[in-house]
Amino acid sequence: QNGFMGPSFQTPEPELTTSAKSQQDLQNATLYTLCRNNDLYDLLETIQNYEDRFNGRFHYDWVFLNDKPFDDRFKLEVSNLVSGKARFGQIDAQHWQFPSSLNRTLMEENIQKLLSDEDGVLPYADSVSYRHMCRFESGFFYRHPLLQEYKYFWRVEPGVKLYCDIDYDIFAHMNAHKYAYAFALSILEYPKSIPSLFRHVKDYLLLAGKEALLHDESNYSRFVYDGTTDSYNLCHFWTNLELGDLDVFRSQEYNEMFEYLDRQNGFFYERWGDAPVRSLILSLILKKGQIHRLADIGYKHEPYLQCPTDAALRRAKKCSCNPDMDFTHNWYSCSWWFDRLDGS
Ligand code: GDP
Ligand code: MN
Repeated sequence: QNGFMGPSFQTPEPELTTSAKSQQDLQNATLYTLCRNNDLYDLLETIQNYEDRFNGRFHYDWVFLNDKPFDDRFKLEVSNLVSGKARFGQIDAQHWQFPSSLNRTLMEENIQKLLSDEDGVLPYADSVSYRHMCRFESGFFYRHPLLQEYKYFWRVEPGVKLYCDIDYDIFAHMNAHKYAYAFALSILEYPKSIPSLFRHVKDYLLLAGKEALLHDESNYSRFVYDGTTDSYNLCHFWTNLELGDLDVFRSQEYNEMFEYLDRQNGFFYERWGDAPVRSLILSLILKKGQIHRLADIGYKHEPYLQCPTDAALRRAKKCSCNPDMDFTHNWYSCSWWFDRLDGS
């Protein structure tokens, strides 16, 4: 408590809003960042910002994972800024390795094709580490021993920024509404990164006897599936800001589908992103009402910004972003489409 009394504002959920939560009131939840040692200074900016805008009121833990060991400077500087417990883990080498079934020559050939594309080269076309990252974030992060301990996670990336106060316990909000997943930005995927992804999703559904999920009105199939062309509409939740119920990711339903897709080796032969893979799975397995768009959050991951436009909200939450730059209603955002389906 700093003694300064700013203008006060009654939030809709006063029971969740307090500047001094005691430990017992916290959810079993953690912030989570996958990064490298050399992300340190972008990361510190982001941690300071998330602490100021949210975690300084609640002191949630923060789990950091890396495919290599974190160095001492990283651990010291990060621990100094996180107001909860900062925890550092290394990823199991098996979760950051080429699968034994992968044909490396075929992968290299496909990378060369992506690089020689005359219509423009796909971002990260030739990055192997990016492919490991996308695969890890699709099917392995929730199996790490440090994340096993928690029910909810909130993913954060080095360099992202919050622009409005989050003065309520966002994890308690997830729990109170039984949300399984929450996101801020959503966007269309580059078709070139996932040429065969949807075909494999359909193959899986057929094999598993679950084709009906594509035409189900009670899930989010319409967020990702275009029935008139029988194809993936390229919409996905941007995973750089997401909150989720780890039990959903640990469920058999999720993992069966992930493992089938993983066996096709599209993370390597193509350049499947974790966002389209997970958005397809989650949209099919979650029921309406379980996915929440965090419309009240000001948030930027370059080059896109979600910025609340409602004047009262902006004042109450001390937003510092430019509402004219809000991405929500852009033609290649999918958030307006999500809202239409969600009936909000
Ligand atoms: P983009 O958002 O799709 O452009 O991808 P990023 O470069 O931001 O990577 C996504 C997340 O994975 C970020 O949190 C990165 O810090 C992390 N990341 C990406 N590549 C690696 C890697 O090779 N090793 C580790 N440890 N983290 C990585
Ligand atoms: Mn990023």
